[in-house]
Amino acid sequence: MNAERLEHFRKLLLKQLREHDNNVRDDQAAALNLYDDGVQDTVDQSITDVTKEMAFSLGQRESQLVADIDQALLRMDEGVYGTCAGCGHPIDERRLEAVPTARYDAACQAELERRRGENPTPSL
Ligand SMILES: [Zn+2]
Repeated sequence: MNAERLEHFRKLLLKQLREHDNNVRDDQAAALNLYDDGVQDTVDQSITDVTKEMAFSLGQRESQLVADIDQALLRMDEGVYGTCAGCGHPIDERRLEAVPTARYDAACQAELERRRGENPTPSL
């Protein structure tokens, strides 16, 4: 992939990173505000902990996305961005355009999902 295309995907990733970053903060702020209506002084530590846990799980899905984006940016620094982690072939740029964090090309992704879908304990 040439430097120009790489820069294009880097911008795409950084844009997504900013958006997801905001989502995480919004989710956490929303959860932390649940107990904000004058009950603060009667709230004991256990409820505060539960609230924090709630904020954490709400933010977790978004956090995973942020982690994926971080990983993609790291692969860019390592010069392996856009290369399938399964077979080493270049990932179709149309695929990267749709999913800039993709680590696998379509064939390897399909194979991974097929294996994941299989029963881990054979019936025979
Ligand atoms: Zn592959």
